[in-house]
Amino acid sequence: MLHRIADRIAAEAIELAVLGVRDNGTEFSMALKAEPGSAAGTFRYYAEALDKVAGEVAPTAPDVLGLVQRMPVGVVGAIVPWNFPLMIGAWKLAPALAMGNSVVLKPAETASLTLLRLAEICSECGLPDGVLNVVTGSGAEAGAALAASNGVDVLAFTGSGATGRKLLEASARSNLKRCYLELGGKSPNIVFADAPDLAKAAKVSAAGIFRNSGQVCIAGSRLLVEASVHDEFAELLQAEAEALRVGDPLDLKTHVGAVNSEEQLRRNLSFMDMARAEGGQVITGGHRILEDTGGTYMSPAIVTHVAQDHALFQREVFGPVLAVTRFETEAEALNLANATDFGLAAGVWTANLSRAHRMVAGIRAGVVHVNTYGGSDNTVPLGGVGQSGNGHDKSLHALDKYTDLKTAWIQL
Ligand code: NAD
Repeated sequence: MLHRIADRIAAEAIELAVLGVRDNGTEFSMALKAEPGSAAGTFRYYAEALDKVAGEVAPTAPDVLGLVQRMPVGVVGAIVPWNFPLMIGAWKLAPALAMGNSVVLKPAETASLTLLRLAEICSECGLPDGVLNVVTGSGAEAGAALAASNGVDVLAFTGSGATGRKLLEASARSNLKRCYLELGGKSPNIVFADAPDLAKAAKVSAAGIFRNSGQVCIAGSRLLVEASVHDEFAELLQAEAEALRVGDPLDLKTHVGAVNSEEQLRRNLSFMDMARAEGGQVITGGHRILEDTGGTYMSPAIVTHVAQDHALFQREVFGPVLAVTRFETEAEALNLANATDFGLAAGVWTANLSRAHRMVAGIRAGVVHVNTYGGSDNTVPLGGVGQSGNGHDKSLHALDKYTDLKTAWIQL
């Protein structure tokens, strides 16, 4: 059934991408790959995984048989955000269904259409009524009710830290349901002077912060640059940012679509004001543009001279705003990388293999990219440490979230 669902998502990829773009404003080129493309792959991955995981026979005394079995947890409550609803929804749904659970899924209030269509597809593929339930509504009402429910055994969440805290409270006040939180980030992208190709680093780094208007949890929003190449790299980046075409998300030539909502755009612009007030230098972008279209568009912004105590260094914008900070030594770069409460992703650009390994070991993050930024697939987990959360989506590790262990202890 999971394979059939994957096939249907792939067959309807364009319709699903258009539906999602109309809902959340992501540029079509990215939405097509990241939403139906990724969701179909996720259903396929877990369809193929589910008969490859089995229990254990424990090495007990010979007169006892100890069988360790995986049991479904029961009802999984999934709460997802608006930036990539289909992809993130599939990351939770596919492993939860594969392990034999039922799911109540709450999409974000500004982006629920693709997940409602996915529910129809699941039903058309034969998933019995009641196994997947999509409940739309606000976070304060529908989300809070799910979090407080005694009928929910596991809560799988992606969203902001503020909401994550509320879910933990709701769990404590209700049935102590397990909560897996995938939260925000302020991910450092570190460019050393010995990076193999500065032009490529600039291109990939610009995409790593500006695509989907920066509304990407792992966006490389803090650029740390070695002082000797700071000015050259800033120029390369500026050129990349200014070459990005911002506009109608459904236009195939668009690189960066719309900001999700007026509220998010206002928040992004208030971060620009804060950055200027704190001494940041805006070298490009940071304005509302194309206002006559009625859309919520913002020009990609690069702010240099951002210090460790600036809001732009410490707080997640979730918008197309890159904070640039210079460093002198590897030790300083590592300290700066780890100087926030978050720990989701990171990037390191260097041709020095030993340095790359030292940075991978030293950076506190769920994923560290080396000489690239943002790559991933279903075989590797995605999740953070610190205030970026505690759960991992994707890979076989995600199956642990949706199973309980049961021991059968049999005296022979
Ligand atoms: P949000 O926390 O406001 O909303 C996320 C979801 O939670 C929505 O469905 C919303 O309706 C629901 N919600 C809100 N208040 C709730 C409450 N009191 N009780 C229950 N549910 C509630 O986050 P957002 O603004 O929609 O999404 C942006 C955030 O998500 C960013 O911080 C971003 O970094 C994060 N994010 C993280 C990842 C990851 O994998 N770590 C991926 C994408 C986005």
